[in-house]
Amino acid sequence: MVKLRSDYKAPSCVVEEAYLNIDIHQDHTVVTTRLVLCTVDDAPFMLNGRDLDLQAFRLDGFDIEKDKWPLTDGGLLLEGLPAKTIVETVSICHPESNTALEGLYLSGGMYCTQCEPEGFRRIGYFPDRPDVMTCFTVRIEASRAFPQLLSNGNLLETGDAGDDRHYALWHDPHPKPSYLFACVVGDLDCAADSFTTRSGRNVDLHIYVEKGNLDLTGHAMESLKKSMSWDEERFGLEYDLDLFQIVAVSHFNMGAMENKGLNIFNSKYVLADKSTATDADLHNVESIIAHEYFHNWTGNRVTCRDWFQLTLKEGLTVFRDQCFSADMHDAGVQRAQDVSMLRAAQFPEDRSPTAHPIRPESYREINNFYTATVYEKGAEVIRMLSGYLGTDGFRRGMDLYFSRHDGQAVTCDDFVAALADANEIDLSAFSGWYSQAGTPRLQVRRDVSSVDASIALIFTQTIPETAANTPREPLPIPVRLGFLQADGAPAMLRRDGENEARTDHVLLIEKAHEVVTFYVDGSFDGAVDELTPSLLRGFSAPVILDDDLTMVERLNLMTHDEDLFNRWDAAQSLLADAVIAYSRGQGDCDQLARCYQQILADDNLLDQFKASILGIPGIAVLESRIKPADPVALHDARLALQAALGQALCDEVDACLANQATHAETAGGRALLNQLLALGVAAGNAAAVKMAGAQVLDANMSLSQGALRALMDSESPERVSGLKAFHDRWQDAPLVMEKWFQMEAMSSVGGTLERLEELMQHKAFDPNNPNKIRAVLGAFMAGNPARFYAADGSGFDFIARHLIDIDKRNPQVAARMALPLTRMAAYDDGRKAQMLYALQQIQASKPSNDLGEVVDKALAASA
Ligand SMILES: [Zn+2]
Repeated sequence: MVKLRSDYKAPSCVVEEAYLNIDIHQDHTVVTTRLVLCTVDDAPFMLNGRDLDLQAFRLDGFDIEKDKWPLTDGGLLLEGLPAKTIVETVSICHPESNTALEGLYLSGGMYCTQCEPEGFRRIGYFPDRPDVMTCFTVRIEASRAFPQLLSNGNLLETGDAGDDRHYALWHDPHPKPSYLFACVVGDLDCAADSFTTRSGRNVDLHIYVEKGNLDLTGHAMESLKKSMSWDEERFGLEYDLDLFQIVAVSHFNMGAMENKGLNIFNSKYVLADKSTATDADLHNVESIIAHEYFHNWTGNRVTCRDWFQLTLKEGLTVFRDQCFSADMHDAGVQRAQDVSMLRAAQFPEDRSPTAHPIRPESYREINNFYTATVYEKGAEVIRMLSGYLGTDGFRRGMDLYFSRHDGQAVTCDDFVAALADANEIDLSAFSGWYSQAGTPRLQVRRDVSSVDASIALIFTQTIPETAANTPREPLPIPVRLGFLQADGAPAMLRRDGENEARTDHVLLIEKAHEVVTFYVDGSFDGAVDELTPSLLRGFSAPVILDDDLTMVERLNLMTHDEDLFNRWDAAQSLLADAVIAYSRGQGDCDQLARCYQQILADDNLLDQFKASILGIPGIAVLESRIKPADPVALHDARLALQAALGQALCDEVDACLANQATHAETAGGRALLNQLLALGVAAGNAAAVKMAGAQVLDANMSLSQGALRALMDSESPERVSGLKAFHDRWQDAPLVMEKWFQMEAMSSVGGTLERLEELMQHKAFDPNNPNKIRAVLGAFMAGNPARFYAADGSGFDFIARHLIDIDKRNPQVAARMALPLTRMAAYDDGRKAQMLYALQQIQASKPSNDLGEVVDKALAASA
C-alpha cells in the first residue's frame, strides 16, 4: 500500500504515560504494554503490532474476551474510547529467530533492539508513529546469565526475580516516540568514563562491548567526549541525562542508532584502534559517534512528525557531523570527501528509478527511504540555508527552533520557519529544494569584453526530469566564486551594482537565466580574457556544474586556487576527462603529471590534501559523463591512467617510498604514501610492488590495508601472498576479516564469481550478518566493475540469485543491496536487458515489501 505525505492526520489520542515489561526467556519473550490514553477526537486509534502473538487485552483492568479483540492486519484498532483509558496488552515475540534485525533480536548472544522506523511494533502493541511522544517506564527481566539489563533514561532499581532471574527498572524523563526506545540484555564488558557539561552536570559514559574487546573502545570514548564539547561550543547544546550509554553489536542493518541515552552501534563503528582500523575508519568512527550523539537534540528532543520528514533530523544531523569533522580535521579535505560521497551515491540516485526529493511525497516501505538523498542531499540543503544566513544567523535560527519546538514532533516547514523568523527573512524560495527531485544542472558561459574590461557570467539552470515526477521550477542556487590571474594569483573584481572589488563573491542565482557582470579592478593591468573563473567554491550548491573552462584554466585552478575544494575539484574534472580519453585510446597525462609534481613539491600543502587530490574518481562518477557508459572499459581506462601517472611521477613515487618511515608517522603521510604506492604498483614499478608486499605485514592497519589495496588489481604474486598473510593474521578477528572479504571481492584479478562463492562458505562469513554480506556482495558491486558489469550478464544474475535468498532473512538489507541493479539508464541496450532480466527473476520470487518496492519501481521505469 502506498502512503502519501498529504494524507497525514494527527493522532486521535495522547499517550500520557507508557509502561513496558519485557520478560526474556530462551525460546520466547513476553511483552506487556500498559498505556494511559487520553482521547483528542473520536477517530479510531491504532496500536500497531506485527508478527506478535497476543495473549491478553485489557481495558481499565478488565480482560476483554478473545473474540472481541479489535485485531486488524496492522494491529489493535481502538474505537469509541472514553476520555481517559488504561489499555494493556500482553504478547509474545521471538527475538531468538528474528533475522530481519528489526524489533528485538539476538546478536552474538546479546539481545538488542532496532526500532527506527517501525520496529517497535514487532516488540509489543503500541502506537508506533513518531508523533506519539510519551515518557517510558521499562522493566526488563531475564536470566542472571545476562548481567546487563539496559534501557533508556535513568536506572531506578534492580532486584531479584526468583528462579535465577533478575530485573531492572528504567525511567526516561524525556518524552519520546517508540522509535527511540531501546533495550539491551547481555553479558558485556563496559568501558566507563565521565564528562562534565558546561553547566556542571556530571554524565557517566558507558561503552558496552562483547567480552574481550575493551581495549578497542578508547577511540570511541574520546570521540564521544569531543562531540559533547563541540555541541556545547558550536550550538550551545548540552546533554540532558546523567548517563549516556553506547552498545556495540555485531549484527546491525545500519551504521548506528540514536536511541535516547542508549545508542546502539554496529560494532564496526565502535571497535577500532590503529592496529585493526585504518585512519579513514577511525575518522568514520569519530563522525558516526558524533552524528548519533548530535541527534540527542536534532532528532530526539525535537523529532519528526511523520516519516516523510526524515530529512528534518537526518539532513540536519549529517550537516552537523560534517561541520564537526571539518573542525576536527582539515576543512578542505573534509569537503572533498563529503562531495565525493554525494556524487558517488546521491547523484546516481537522482538519475535512477528510485529518485525522490529529500522530503518524499509517497512510499510503500519507509525502510527504503534511508537514502543518500534524504541524508546527504538533505545536509547540502541545510548547508545552503546556513551559508545564506551566515554562521550567526543560522545559530539564531537553531536557537529559536529548539526554544519553540522542544519536546515536539515537527515538520521540515517548521524548521525553515524558525530559521526565517529568527532572522526576519523570507526563505520560501528554498522550499523547492524540499519538494523537487533531481540534480539541477547549472550551465555557466562567459562573455568577456576587453572594451570595458568586464566578464559577464551567463547562468542557465535546468531541473531534469526524474522518476519521481516532481515539479521542475528554478531553485535558488548559491554560487561562491572568484577569479584567478594567469599566474594563479587571485584577481580583484567588482560585481555590477557593488562599489567594492573583492577576490571572493557570493551570488544567489534564482531564475532559469541570469547574467551577472564583473569588472576588473583598476589596479589590474593584465588582459581580462586571461582571468580564470573559480566557480561554485566549496561546492556551494549540490548541482552539476557545466562550465566552459579550458584544460589550461583547470590546471591553473588545480595548482593555485585559494579554495582548496576547487583545487581538488579541478583535478577531479581533469582526471575524469583523462580516464574517458584513455577509454577511447587517446590518453595522455603529461600536463596533469607536471601539475602534480608542483603540488607534491609544495610544502604549504598538507599531505592529506596531496593524497586526496591524487584520488581518481570512481566508476559511479565517471559513468555520469558519458552515455552509454561501459563500466568495464572505464575500469580498464582508470587502471591505464593510474599506470601512466605512476610512470610520469616515478621520481615522486621513489622519493616517497625511500622516505617511508617518515611518511608512516602521520595519518596524512600514510594516506599520501598509500596513494603513491598504488600509482607505483599500477605502473609496474618493481620496487613499489616489492614494498607493497612487505607493507602488508605492517602493524599499522592503514599501511597494511593501503598496501593490499595497491596490489588488488595487479597480477603479481605479492597480491596472492599479501591476501593470504592478511587472512592468516586476522582470521580470528571478525571485524578485520571484513576488510579481507572486501579486498578479495573487489579484486578485478581474483574476485571471480567462483571466488565469491568460496568466500561465502568461509568460516568467518555469517549469512545473517549484514556487515559480512556487504563486505562480499556490496564490495563486489561497488568495487569490482570489471566482473559485476561483465558483458555476459553473469554478475547481475549472481547478485539477483543471492538477493532472493537474503530477502527471505533480511528484507531491509536485500532492498538496499538491490539498488545498483536498478541503475540501468547509464548503459547500452545489451546491459540494460541483462539487468532487467535479473530484476524480473527477483520479481518472480515474490519478494518482500522492501525489495518489491525497489524492483517494481525499476521495472516500471523501464517499461
Ligand atoms: Zn542519523
